[in-house]
Amino acid sequence: LFAAESQFLKGVVAMDGLPDADRIEVCFAGRSNVGKSTLINALTGTKALARASNTPGRTQEINFFTQSDSHYLVDLPGYGYANAPLAVVEKWQRLLKRYLSGRANLRRAFVLVDTRHGVKAVDEEIMTLLDQSAVTFQVVMTKADKVKPAEQEKTLTQVRAALTKHPAAYPEIVVTSSEKSDGLETLRSIIAELD
Ligand code: GDP
Repeated sequence: LFAAESQFLKGVVAMDGLPDADRIEVCFAGRSNVGKSTLINALTGTKALARASNTPGRTQEINFFTQSDSHYLVDLPGYGYANAPLAVVEKWQRLLKRYLSGRANLRRAFVLVDTRHGVKAVDEEIMTLLDQSAVTFQVVMTKADKVKPAEQEKTLTQVRAALTKHPAAYPEIVVTSSEKSDGLETLRSIIAELD
């Protein structure tokens, strides 16, 4: 699946802009700065790929990438912007809710969690939204290279405890480091095996 390059398809700001739901789709969510762009780029081996979503004006769009004519990879805007205007946040949340609850081909959401920080309140919010939308989600730990093994274990314990409250959570947690390329092959296989 990941042999071919990913291509940026479009940034979507309203439901009528969504591409046809004719391919298997996965989406990536996480707090700003969690390492989402870096992970998507590392996963797909395409350097400039997710940079689009971090450029000003693009941050409130749902960004679609095509992968091998058979999949869509979807980059959801980073959440937890403290200083975005309320009207912008509310518009974005409405779109996100509609997207998550109405997307028939969406097979899994990956919720990225920084290995140094664990699950925060805003992560809980997105997990609850995924529960309500009946979208199975899986936690991907990022930046694992930044912590010692004991600290990683501590975070994993906290994350596992948090997941017990979420019926839509898939139990297996994927630990990654884009820096060291750790866990990327695991994540690629998980995506390739969804049908
Ligand atoms: P985003 O806002 O979630 O898209 O975050 P970015 O992908 O832009 O990453 C935020 C910062 O974390 C950048 O400075 C990255 O270089 C850094 N970063 C991302 N992934 C890793 C990783 O696996 N290891 C380390 N050490 N740093 C990372």
